[in-house]
Amino acid sequence: MIERALYTSDHEAFRDSFRRFMDKEIAPFHEAWEEQGFVDREVWRKAGENGFLCMSMPEAYGGAGADKLYSMVQIEELSRAGFSGIGYGLHSEIVAPYILHYGTEAQKRKYLPLLASGAMVGAIAMSEPAAGSDLQGIKCTAIKQVDDSYLLNGSKTFITNGWHADLVIVVAKTNPAAGAKGTSLMLVERGMPGFQTGKRLKKLGMKAQDTSELFFDNVKLPADKLLGGPAQENRGIICQMEQLPWERLQIAIGAVAAAQAAIDWTVDYVRERKVFGQAVATYQNTRYTLAELQTQVQVARVFVDKCCELIKSDQLDTATASMAKYWCTDLQCKVMDECVQLFGGYGYMWEYPITRAYADARVQRIYGGTNEIMKEVIARGMGLGGR
Ligand SMILES: Cc1cc2nc3c(=O)[nH]c(=O)nc-3n(C[C@H](O)[C@H](O)[C@H](O)COP(=O)(O)OP(=O)(O)OC[C@H]3O[C@@H](n4cnc5c(N)ncnc54)[C@H](O)[C@@H]3O)c2cc1C
Repeated sequence: MIERALYTSDHEAFRDSFRRFMDKEIAPFHEAWEEQGFVDREVWRKAGENGFLCMSMPEAYGGAGADKLYSMVQIEELSRAGFSGIGYGLHSEIVAPYILHYGTEAQKRKYLPLLASGAMVGAIAMSEPAAGSDLQGIKCTAIKQVDDSYLLNGSKTFITNGWHADLVIVVAKTNPAAGAKGTSLMLVERGMPGFQTGKRLKKLGMKAQDTSELFFDNVKLPADKLLGGPAQENRGIICQMEQLPWERLQIAIGAVAAAQAAIDWTVDYVRERKVFGQAVATYQNTRYTLAELQTQVQVARVFVDKCCELIKSDQLDTATASMAKYWCTDLQCKVMDECVQLFGGYGYMWEYPITRAYADARVQRIYGGTNEIMKEVIARGMGLGGR
């Protein structure tokens, strides 16, 4: 195996402490959270209390001022353990960075400490019932009024952390006539009149994750709820494009960690399980299958680790991040499928982690931009224009 050079001993010590946190605060409850369809709010507060939220935010805004590698460790550990109900990654490394990079000083001072402490749970709402891949087609509008406030109308769907969320960054058209160039990012808080959370969606996997619909009916947003103020008006799509490499890389990091965990569980299982008087591990099919999967996961890990180095110095381009997202999540699904097969009927039983991991994996090829969209981005980067 190629030794990883990405992390220092400090990162590894952090990994140990985060594992201890997961063992105490997540592992005993995750199954019950799957049954109820959402995690207990307490697990957000405890993560904040222990400094596990918004770690890469500056200390001045309540974060730890840590490098992104600490967040990568968290993503790896949650994926390895199959704790797919926990939405810390989206909260800390997608929602908070939008506020840090584009927010006004007042917005950063108000929201980032609340996100870091877990007092507020964050979500980002781009997708709509009729607009997922094609974000230019979003119908949500935030129209400026004579008093400089905005009136927000429309609905969103498939929103991660949507049911718990206290703060939602909503992508809305502030200039509908300008198409994609007329979108802005609006800050919507729980309790604002006209803002309603819809039902929690029942999903194939990620059963403890509170993925929800959101509805906005004449929500009056004061001018200071435009993320970044007038300087960012109608720049929503540009902000989104800038954040894509890191968002997509996070998915790839999780994919590789989950795939490695599946291989490890399967190796343990096939050594123990006897069929026709011999361990399943002794069959050539088993050994070759696992050897192939391990080879591919090793290749993926080296590529993703290189991408992690690049993102640290802001050098990861969107096409390369898209390659990581598409290739690693395709691989994750393939690994899960082959490993389930090696578990036989037990691989279809919910009590087995491999079964949950199989169900959880499938969405990785869909969200964060589908893998077909990733290939579009890569092809365009090669000078192959599409439609
Ligand atoms: C569990 C879960 C969590 C999610 N969390 C969030 C969230 O927090 N916030 C958020 O905003 N959204 C979220 N999403 C939404 C997700 O990002 C979208 O589902 C995704 O972008 C795809 O959009 P869609 O579902 O509308 O599919 P569609 O866009 O309708 O795509 C349908 C099919 O058409 C293909 N297709 C589309 N365009 C092209 C093209 N140009 N070329 C080739 N094929 C194409 C797609 O690849 C796909 O196979 C989440 C979704 C899920 C399932």
